[in-house]
Amino acid sequence: MPIARDPSLELLHSVLNAITLGAVVLDSDRRVVLWNDWMSSYAQIPREQALGADFLALFPALRGSRVDAAIDQALRHHFPSLLSQSLNKAPFPLYANAAAARLDERLQQAVAVTPVEVSGAARHCLIQITDVSIAVGREKLLREQTLVLRSQTFADGLTGIANRRHFDVAIEREHRRARRHGTPLSLLMIDIDHFKAYNDHYGHQKGDQCLIQVSAALADMLRRSADLMARYGGEEFAVILPDTDAAQAAQMAEAIRARAQALAIAHAHGGDSGVVTVSIGVATRSAASPVDIDTLIGNADRALYRAKKNGRNRVEAQLPG
Ligand code: GH3
Ligand code: MG
Ligand code: MG
Repeated sequence: MPIARDPSLELLHSVLNAITLGAVVLDSDRRVVLWNDWMSSYAQIPREQALGADFLALFPALRGSRVDAAIDQALRHHFPSLLSQSLNKAPFPLYANAAAARLDERLQQAVAVTPVEVSGAARHCLIQITDVSIAVGREKLLREQTLVLRSQTFADGLTGIANRRHFDVAIEREHRRARRHGTPLSLLMIDIDHFKAYNDHYGHQKGDQCLIQVSAALADMLRRSADLMARYGGEEFAVILPDTDAAQAAQMAEAIRARAQALAIAHAHGGDSGVVTVSIGVATRSAASPVDIDTLIGNADRALYRAKKNGRNRVEAQLPG
């Protein structure tokens, strides 16, 4: 027997099938009474199979889930729910295509469950599923770009080691920690000897290469994760050594000085050694000498100055008192 056609109902069906989100209506027994084309396509369940089926029989994995609870809230208590993608990772097995289905790469979903009153019948509920993959992808990209940018703002453009800004943040942090725990904190100031002459003789590009090579080799000597070597200025480097007393710092500085010389980078005007060398000043903050950051840096600077004055390619520690 031909069914009487109701044009407005037909239009409603066409609209439901044209919209670009999943629409499912359940009756009070949680049986599917409406299932639009979007659902057929992304859930890969044809309408004939879905209509009349128990909702949890179609999606057994959802039993006891937030979606399950939201349906209960809608049907029994008349409460609508919105399940955001960030809190509920893709509850429905919906896939853009067969390849994604094989890999279980689900569409990112935002799910709304709304109670629907039907005159003369028990309450129904409408489930709307929106594909938010594009927004989620965009967010992920932005997060990744933020991480890259942040790491770039803390790295020196030439050498790739920590820059001055990174040093400023780290010395603040380590100074606070040293003060709180009463642990020693040492600082090395390293300056390449006769570097202006190196540039003048070998050219600025060779100078740059020298900076890259020296900074990489010296930074590689730091073994503890809280140790930090930064490019402090042109050919000047600073090393933060938390939990390191004056004697340990002097030892480390000597090892760094020796390592720089061992690189054996020829320097025709670099003094007696004939290679690139560094001078190092060492300063330490301790419970007995609880100096502030500026004083610590000033002490290391003065020690470095003495190392230069005393002939370069050497380590000098801050004078006591
Ligand atoms: P000293 O032994 O007293 O430290 O002598 P110096 O020549 O190293 O000291 P000075 O501070 O007079 O010169 C530092 C030089 O470092 C001057 C500058 O041209 C060079 N320099 C600073 N930054 C860079 C850089 O990024 N690349 C290159 N190639 N040279 C740089
Ligand atoms: Mg200098
Ligand atoms: Mg120098």
